Amino acid sequence: MKIDRDRLERSILELGRIGETPRGGLTRLALSDDDRRGRDWMVARMREAGLRITVDQMGNIFGERPGTAPLPPVMMGSHVDSVPTGGKYDGQLGVLCGLETIRALNDGGIRTRHPVSLVIFTNEEGARFQPAMIASGVMAGKIALEDAYNARDKDGLRLVDELERIGYLGAEPCVPRPFRAYLELHIEQGPFLEEAKLSVGVVEGIVAIAWARLTVHGVQDHAGPTPMRIRHDALVAAAEVVTGVRSIARELGGDVVTTVGTLTVTPNIVNAIPGRVVLSIDLRDPRTETLARARQMLDAVVKEACAREGVTYELEHYWQVPYTPFDGQVVEAVERAARNAGARFRRIRSGAGHDAQYMAAIGPAGMIFVPSRGGRSHCEEEFTAIEDIEDGANTLLLAALDLAGRA
Ligand SMILES: [Zn+2]
Repeated sequence: MKIDRDRLERSILELGRIGETPRGGLTRLALSDDDRRGRDWMVARMREAGLRITVDQMGNIFGERPGTAPLPPVMMGSHVDSVPTGGKYDGQLGVLCGLETIRALNDGGIRTRHPVSLVIFTNEEGARFQPAMIASGVMAGKIALEDAYNARDKDGLRLVDELERIGYLGAEPCVPRPFRAYLELHIEQGPFLEEAKLSVGVVEGIVAIAWARLTVHGVQDHAGPTPMRIRHDALVAAAEVVTGVRSIARELGGDVVTTVGTLTVTPNIVNAIPGRVVLSIDLRDPRTETLARARQMLDAVVKEACAREGVTYELEHYWQVPYTPFDGQVVEAVERAARNAGARFRRIRSGAGHDAQYMAAIGPAGMIFVPSRGGRSHCEEEFTAIEDIEDGANTLLLAALDLAGRA
């Protein structure tokens, strides 16, 4: 059993034209006109492949290939929305390799005991409506449908109105549904597979993530007449926190990654001492305990930096998810499939969140990674070689067939 590499490559090119940027990247924001065109293209291909299509209340698209027994499906899926000036591989590959798996099963006249289905999740990226992975979150019962519907983009448009406008406000309840397994193929978005010259990552789980928000209150004053000895500069304290957050990762070592991604300075003008700074902190590690240690270290870093500058602060640890392990049976099925597909593979963990994270909360889930050139993603330079995509798609096909069972 093998997928058709040329056909898969043509699909990648064709879908990649919808929302293509002049520099060969992709801008296809969730529920935009280009998202509608991308969805329509996928639905047409899914119908051609004989799938029965349904759309749920969050606009998630399901296409089912029947099995021979009344059993829950093996679901394959990902997303077709992108970040602005993103790439043609993030999300897209997961649905296209799923489509190619269905086509390969059709070509071979293969019947499976469990149905095999393809799902396209709405607004995975969170680039237009927050939070990210909003539709799989609703499906997993972690986000209320009402809250998701009322999410607004930067122009104040509501998610539910945009769903309706593009014709993808479906009737199927968006609630947990039984599945034999959920399989998501995705680009790695990191450098490890490429560095090791491997074509496939068998994903064991998704790292634990903690987010914090720090507000530093200094004393806003004139940049000229105020001598250095009486200053309480919020930005100076914040700058120490930025380098301190980096040093947490250096001290803990291992797989810990730490990032300050946003910094809002008030009043943010050239001749005033900053009175207020708000910054974000993102901490990640596979071990939930290490992450707890990183949070304690952050508390100390902030306390010392603010004491030195004589400023006050609020530190809010407002969101965290523990390590999400994938289902042992699914991970083993993916590993067997990678071996049988002749892929060069190793086990790996995901440093980024994916729809598979929410799916793992309601059933057996697993992921397949393919390499990202230079480890890069969410940019127009995002690229994965077709030889590696072929290994990944064959791994997906064999894992789906294994889990669905030949009739
Ligand atoms: Zn993605």
